[in-house]
Amino acid sequence: MARFEFKKAPKIDFATTTDWDQWQWQLRSALKSLSDFEKYFVLSEEERQSFWGSEAVFNIRTTPYYASLADKNLVEDPIRKILMPHLSEKTLGLQQMLDPLGEKKNNPVSRVIHRYSDRCLLLITDTCSVYCRFCTRKHFTGQEQAFLKNDELEKALDYIKAHSGIREVILSGGDPLTVSDVQLDRVLSELRKIDHVEIIRIGSRMPVVCPQRITDDLVKVIKKHKPVFLMTHFNHPKELTEEAALALEKCVDNGIPIFNQMVLLNGVNNHEVIVQALSRRLLYLRVKPYYMFQCDPSEGTDHFRTSIEDSLEIQKKLWGHLSGLAMPHLSIDIPNGGGKAYKVPNFEIFHQGNTRTFQGWDGVQADYISPDVAQIKKPLDWELYLDEWLRLTHSKN
Ligand code: SF4
Repeated sequence: MARFEFKKAPKIDFATTTDWDQWQWQLRSALKSLSDFEKYFVLSEEERQSFWGSEAVFNIRTTPYYASLADKNLVEDPIRKILMPHLSEKTLGLQQMLDPLGEKKNNPVSRVIHRYSDRCLLLITDTCSVYCRFCTRKHFTGQEQAFLKNDELEKALDYIKAHSGIREVILSGGDPLTVSDVQLDRVLSELRKIDHVEIIRIGSRMPVVCPQRITDDLVKVIKKHKPVFLMTHFNHPKELTEEAALALEKCVDNGIPIFNQMVLLNGVNNHEVIVQALSRRLLYLRVKPYYMFQCDPSEGTDHFRTSIEDSLEIQKKLWGHLSGLAMPHLSIDIPNGGGKAYKVPNFEIFHQGNTRTFQGWDGVQADYISPDVAQIKKPLDWELYLDEWLRLTHSKN
């Protein structure tokens, strides 16, 4: 018997089952305007007002499927907060950055972000089926440029070919699974022709906001170009419906490993009970909870942001109760493109000479005594891999 119950999303009355189950219908029937949202939600006056001018900050869109997961009446519903514009998006506050990850300065050719030496992002579309209000890439996402043009693809591929240290290419956007199977197959085929590209990742919220997209045909396309990792972005256990669970299982059953990146959002999921519920369900579905991000100071996201202290407290409460397999890494993207920084609880309480004293999560104290420096030897065969290492670390030159 299944340990967890994954409930079917409540299909809206005016969609036929055939329509509802088709990802193209979900995209075509997206809610974009105040009048669309009014058909689904009982809006508060504040929510109503939030539509005026919010598109200037960030495009507005959700699939009917994702809207159906939100409470129709409750303003505080977590899914509703993710998809509904908010009045405070338009007011400048704490810290507002159009490009918090500093991607524009690591953008050597159109649609390629090359920040780390061994991997790069390839932004194959700027379109998403849902424009999450907390999005960190508002400088690019949602500007209706859609699938990259032929000359952009050629230049991006030329760049990747010329940088032999690039071992991983991460398809991102926008949402790369909003493009057609044919377009995706074309990009993956071109990347697979490049010898030094070992791993391809696809970063997508489609399993969350439109699981109908994970069709047998799509899975065949992805499987053909293995190894391809799927990086999903579930933020709340409410998002794990029967449809989402089936989509995830279909990928894993076909050898597509899945990792989940969540972001801690104020009043949405910043509670250890919510994080453990999400993480355990994901792991049960064979999805590794990978990152638990601090929310980036992207424009219009002040109301979503939690403090680092709040995040550390959540992580500390999970420690020792949630297995390492289910535990996501708490991580912060240092603003302005400083890269990722992990935050972990500090268990070391004393250090002198070779002795360090630790106190574990439940109070057990003990020393770890390191051998003397003179005793440390490095393996003799490291030079066998030196050339590989140098190409990896100098790939941006
Ligand atoms: S799906 Fe990803 S890229 Fe698109 S709006 Fe949401 S967070 Fe941003």
